[in-house]
Amino acid sequence: MAGIVSTSKQGERVVVIGGGVAGSLAAKLLQADADVTLIDPKEYFEITWASLRSMVEPSFAERTVINHKNYFKKGRVVTSPAVNITETDVTTKDGAVIGYDYLVIATGHNDLFPKTRQEKLSQYQTEYEKIISSQSVLIVGGGPSGVELAAEIAVDFPEKKVTLVHRGPRLLEFVGEKAADKAFNWLESKKVEVILNQSVDLSSASEGNKTYRTSGGETIHADCHFLCVGKPLASQWLSGTVLKDSLDGKGRVMVDEHLRVKDRKNVFAIGDITNIPEMKQGYIAESHANVAVKNIKVMMSGGKKKKLSTYKPGSEIAIVSLGRKDSVAQFPFVTVVGCLPGLIKSKDLFVGKTRKARGLSPKLV
Ligand SMILES: Cc1cc2nc3c(=O)[nH]c(=O)nc-3n(C[C@H](O)[C@H](O)[C@H](O)COP(=O)(O)OP(=O)(O)OC[C@H]3O[C@@H](n4cnc5c(N)ncnc54)[C@H](O)[C@@H]3O)c2cc1C
Repeated sequence: MAGIVSTSKQGERVVVIGGGVAGSLAAKLLQADADVTLIDPKEYFEITWASLRSMVEPSFAERTVINHKNYFKKGRVVTSPAVNITETDVTTKDGAVIGYDYLVIATGHNDLFPKTRQEKLSQYQTEYEKIISSQSVLIVGGGPSGVELAAEIAVDFPEKKVTLVHRGPRLLEFVGEKAADKAFNWLESKKVEVILNQSVDLSSASEGNKTYRTSGGETIHADCHFLCVGKPLASQWLSGTVLKDSLDGKGRVMVDEHLRVKDRKNVFAIGDITNIPEMKQGYIAESHANVAVKNIKVMMSGGKKKKLSTYKPGSEIAIVSLGRKDSVAQFPFVTVVGCLPGLIKSKDLFVGKTRKARGLSPKLV
């Protein structure tokens, strides 16, 4: 791809790198006031926390996999990963060179995604068929993805044998022990077998032989498996850029209270990629997007009338859905499980709310 030439005035060009939860919202909120380019390797934004429901109900993904162009009508989408940043430009893998006045980095976690929405929808259909054609399912990983997938299958297909193996001493290590124990008990009540402190040798099973060996010497019979392990931060590529000294020891981008990258005036970082000591959650990534957008608008206007907004971590809430009705929720002072906390998330998985924040109808029209 040739370099992209922007026709807008100097001072108005914003480049957002990453079209996930934080980047999609930032691009949407800035498009009316700036000349915005959104860089993402895929053509769509996906509501991540709805993905496990789409595996047991592929049509659910029709509302949760959204082409960037549907909510980001005024800006430009470049479908290729960013590979370099200089003081003035971003370069993508396809060779596009895009100049910026303000830069927003929101690359979250690395994953392998299909490029087009249609391919993503087909992937859910394939995963669904794999589940329905299996009598027994092995889930590897007991973080939020593994727990939510085990729960979705146990609720929708109670006749199937579900086994969840987790390497750590407890499930859901990103929340407290109470929440982890409640999730464990809930899964066991639905006849999911949970095996802790063990890993699975995935090479031990072959097409004909569906027996998996664990590190503890156990054997598990399962017709198929799903790998639900945590994904690394998508920040490694930054270590070859002008921002290489802005990464902390864990590869997170260091930001100040205005969400600007340390020692940079016009570069912001938002979402899971930041080094802010708080839970990594989508609703928090959206708060970051709101603060960065406000600050970019203030800076674009010359910054004379208003001061920059400050981001302060708030009280943390984590809700892990357990099928269509229940959930386990950790609030600042109490942790609860069942259908009452389930009312908050489990039916629609915040899909309507997330679509509305991007100016879309909660339902498909
Ligand atoms: C199973 C599960 C359930 C969850 N449930 C909830 C919940 O109920 N509530 C909640 O608030 N949060 C929840 N979360 C957490 C939430 O999904 C994340 O906190 C959120 O997605 C972080 O947003 P982000 O924009 O920082 O990153 P992501 O949403 O990960 O987006 C990153 C984007 O960057 C792109 N990208 C990567 N590398 C590059 C590159 N080099 N160039 C350009 N683009 C790039 C990717 O394609 C992607 O679009 C859940 C997570 C999981 C896994």
